[in-house]
Amino acid sequence: MTTREHPPVRVLFFAGSGRSGTTVVSNILGQLPGAFAAGELRYLWQRGVEQDHLCGCGEPFSSCPVWTAVMTRVRSGDRRDEPAIGRRLLGRLRMARLPGMLLRDALGRQAIPAHSDDAAVTDLYRAIADETGAALVIDGSKLPPYGLLLRQQPGIELYVLHLVRDPRATAFSWLRSKPTRDTAAGAQMQRQETWKSSLLWTVWNLTVLRLWKDGDPRVCRVRYEDLIADPVGELGRVAAMVGADPADLPFLAPDRVQLAPTHSVAGNPNRHDTGEVTLRADDQWRTAMSRRDRALVTLVTAPGLRRFHYPLDTRTQPRRRPNRGVDRGAVSRSATSAGRAR
Ligand SMILES: [Zn+2]
Repeated sequence: MTTREHPPVRVLFFAGSGRSGTTVVSNILGQLPGAFAAGELRYLWQRGVEQDHLCGCGEPFSSCPVWTAVMTRVRSGDRRDEPAIGRRLLGRLRMARLPGMLLRDALGRQAIPAHSDDAAVTDLYRAIADETGAALVIDGSKLPPYGLLLRQQPGIELYVLHLVRDPRATAFSWLRSKPTRDTAAGAQMQRQETWKSSLLWTVWNLTVLRLWKDGDPRVCRVRYEDLIADPVGELGRVAAMVGADPADLPFLAPDRVQLAPTHSVAGNPNRHDTGEVTLRADDQWRTAMSRRDRALVTLVTAPGLRRFHYPLDTRTQPRRRPNRGVDRGAVSRSATSAGRAR
């Protein structure tokens, strides 16, 4: 398949670190007319093709009619060893390679060396757009090097949503055990020790800041806490960035959305939530997290906490970030109680 005769595929890439609320945001934005919430596409080759996890629609990947049609189109070109593409992507994009990527990027060179797999990656987004008719593919992959890889592809027009969440909340979430709801076998989501999740939070969020600058019209930075306090306003800002009408967002009330199933290929188990969903802050960490863990996270993430205007002392409530000179658009603002994004 060649992309030469097509305009590039518009992709909204979620950048940042894990457990930041991207799944529910992807499901909400995926309700916009012409948008397709694909889940975390960097995992498609393994969790979808190789392991046949459940699609967001409830069918196994291999029986979902949408993914069957998409993959048939992807495979119309060269026959590829698809699970190997997934494994090579993990290797090519791993953190140890980050300094080299950032150096090449700073020197104006291609940050991630080209590989024959890149054609398969581009073909995937092209096939999703062609098969579903979507004008916007929403990809919750988050990993900054994967975003860099997408940015390098001429067949992709990349928009970035940098979603940041208080690292004390994400570290607490990483400690909890939760069923993936991806397979019938009852697998649990991966857990991560506090020092490690804190380090990853710092590295990935500061990397996103470096790669996608403030003021770029194709970059939107949103704190999860601000989004929960004002979902209509914050998501309206993101919708406007990608050329959608914020009025088309599926709000039933300022803090409640109506979600139809999406065909997300991987992600947090709440991608399977449909129907009426109330957005509420999940701030159990404030009462249930140990003082030791809290102090450790605060220490390791201190540079990022300062940059994203989170307090070092968590006994105080997070303040709304100051005006960053970003046009908030004409979306009406309505304060809501914060809440758990189920
Ligand atoms: Zn499906």
